[in-house]
Amino acid sequence: MDLLNTLVDKGLRRELPTREEALAVLATSDDDLLDVVAAAGKVRRHWFGRRVKLNYLVNLKSGLCPEDCSYCSQRLGSTAGILKYTWLKPDEASQAAAAGLAGGAKRVCLVASGRGPTDRDVDRVSETIRTIKDQNEGVEVCACLGLLSDGQAERLREAGADAYNHNLNTSEGTYGDITTTHTYADRVDTVQKAHGAGLSACSGLIAGMGESDEDLVDVVYSLRELDPDSVPVNFLIPVEGTPLAKEWNLTPQRCLRILAMVRFVCPDVEVRIAGGREVHLRTMQPLALNLANSIFLGDYLTTEGQAGKADLEMIADAGFEVEGTDQVTLPEHRTETAGGGCGSHEAAGCGSHGGAGCGSSHEGAGCGSHEGGGVCGTAAAAAAPVNEARTDLVAVRRRGAGTDLAPNA
Ligand code: SF4
Repeated sequence: MDLLNTLVDKGLRRELPTREEALAVLATSDDDLLDVVAAAGKVRRHWFGRRVKLNYLVNLKSGLCPEDCSYCSQRLGSTAGILKYTWLKPDEASQAAAAGLAGGAKRVCLVASGRGPTDRDVDRVSETIRTIKDQNEGVEVCACLGLLSDGQAERLREAGADAYNHNLNTSEGTYGDITTTHTYADRVDTVQKAHGAGLSACSGLIAGMGESDEDLVDVVYSLRELDPDSVPVNFLIPVEGTPLAKEWNLTPQRCLRILAMVRFVCPDVEVRIAGGREVHLRTMQPLALNLANSIFLGDYLTTEGQAGKADLEMIADAGFEVEGTDQVTLPEHRTETAGGGCGSHEAAGCGSHGGAGCGSSHEGAGCGSHEGGGVCGTAAAAAAPVNEARTDLVAVRRRGAGTDLAPNA
């Protein structure tokens, strides 16, 4: 297929595809799907080999957010039965982080619900970052605390944060349909603040919220322009008690096309499969490792993922390997120019950005980041009729941070 040969050539040269080419990837037929995966897989292997970076989410503060992001179980007015708790103490967060690191993760994503941190919150998180770094040598830490005010990114950087996650989530044109309490421009500003402070920027999207193909291409092109080191791709998890609870319209095939498009447009960045991996890719998860080079291990912010052991087995069975702390995530040209050098595990460097950046974003069950959603665009999800809640597929997190039960890692 000429389209795919062109996209592979451009991906290997880091050349931006045209919008028409990106849209054409989303419009490919099921007959062509394996060819699309194989082509994007060549680009993925060129820049990242067969390594898979594991990231681990620690939800520092859960629920009770004053913002109204429609996809999020922690939003204002959410009736989702999620865990709600205030800030974890530094030792509690470090203990949760250690479980993820013992399970194979190299990055810990510290996430808190809310519009953005107060200066006191930044002090609190700074202490947590220092505790985690003292107790876990070589760990990369990404913070995901919402919109940043002037000077806060610099303070997080001084405390040892390697990266900062804040997702764009959707296109500028549809942002107002998803959230009314802050703007798309607010989000762009925070990503730029993180970048300007020398943090490795992590910023991604949520697919599956009713957006068009054009919207998806718009947000991915905006991300390419912002140039984060990592791009988490969430597939909407429609959580009961949120406005998008009935948006079940993604298929595994649609998710694979979206990941392939993101890889072609952002060929040399850490593309992370974030929230919704198990729910929407289902048995196609291993195929998606040919497109993304990063995933979250274990659970998400407010929902449960598959067992950490199953994640590791899937990676091995598919012929990939877990990236070690002695391996640099990003290609050399990015670690030379990146502020924090995500992917570089140098003292000043990040190490990488978020499986979404954090990738998970400080958003809840549908966090903006590690919780996602996904729009189908093609056929309805095979496992469920559209417009019906699927409590059988979505389990609210009941273990790990904020509970007395052991975390999933
Ligand atoms: S995504 Fe973040 S800001 Fe939006 S409602 Fe959820 S926790 Fe609040």
